[in-house]
Amino acid sequence: MIVTHTIGETREALSQAHRTAKTIGLVPTMGALHSGHMSLVDAARSGCDFVAVSIFVNPTQFAPSEDLDTYPRAPEADLNACESHGVDLVFMPSVEDVYGQGALTQVWVEELSETLCGRSRPTHFRGVCTIVAKLLNIFQPHRAYFGAKDYQQVSIIRRMVSDLSFPVEIIACPTVREADGLAMSSRNAYLSPEERRQAPALSVALQRAKESIRRSHPPAPHAIREIRDYLAHEAPAGTIEYVQAVDPDTLRDVETTEGPLVLALAVRFGHTRLIDNVLVDAPQRAP
Ligand code: AMP
Repeated sequence: MIVTHTIGETREALSQAHRTAKTIGLVPTMGALHSGHMSLVDAARSGCDFVAVSIFVNPTQFAPSEDLDTYPRAPEADLNACESHGVDLVFMPSVEDVYGQGALTQVWVEELSETLCGRSRPTHFRGVCTIVAKLLNIFQPHRAYFGAKDYQQVSIIRRMVSDLSFPVEIIACPTVREADGLAMSSRNAYLSPEERRQAPALSVALQRAKESIRRSHPPAPHAIREIRDYLAHEAPAGTIEYVQAVDPDTLRDVETTEGPLVLALAVRFGHTRLIDNVLVDAPQRAP
């Protein structure tokens, strides 16, 4: 496994890979790798000849008040995990190497970045798109893998890639969950034991709402109310930031639950912000 630390080294290794491998897959991450990340690596491994993982805690996607300084970092364990999952190259740059020369260019996907998480994190997706665009330019992969857990992120990246004609296929992989349903996240490590006990309520609330939509198609505000009520009861330590029912493509709020939609939410437990979502695809009426 090759480990690179600079853009120059990475480009050199990739130019070699582009000569010998038919398909190159990229998995962008911020490290502290868990089974959710590794499911993307495994998908890349089974679909590509050459698999690259980037590990970079990208400062430009954190607001000054957010957890950049305390974001979990585990470089040794990450390298071991990559090695044991058959990764060919890991790119672990410093902030200096990525942004050292200063940058005046940013990538901003309108509309899709302004709803859901974008309301409380107005600069977040600008940072995400800019670093992902940069990584796509450095690696020039045939496929790039993202988690459906960050549904808005993958929607925005798909749109960026389409709008800017990046020659890459974006693959969204299913959310990997703990046994009790909690979506795996590097930030779960911050939860106190009591918060951790309550946190699975997020996925339970979404699943219950999904079932109720498939059964009786309540108006979207009713489904949202059900989720809020369940969380108020089962996760009282959490503060709801949003619960929304949105169109899977435009991410605009929907009013009815007759067509496909995504239920998405963000809840804060102290300083720890958790997100989750569920796709309610082609809802069926009860027989
Ligand atoms: P992060 O390191 O949090 O930036 O995540 C890197 C990639 O892993 C993103 O595409 C995430 O959506 C994906 N990811 C994070 N957690 C999960 C999970 N529980 N299941 C599937 N993918 C995930």
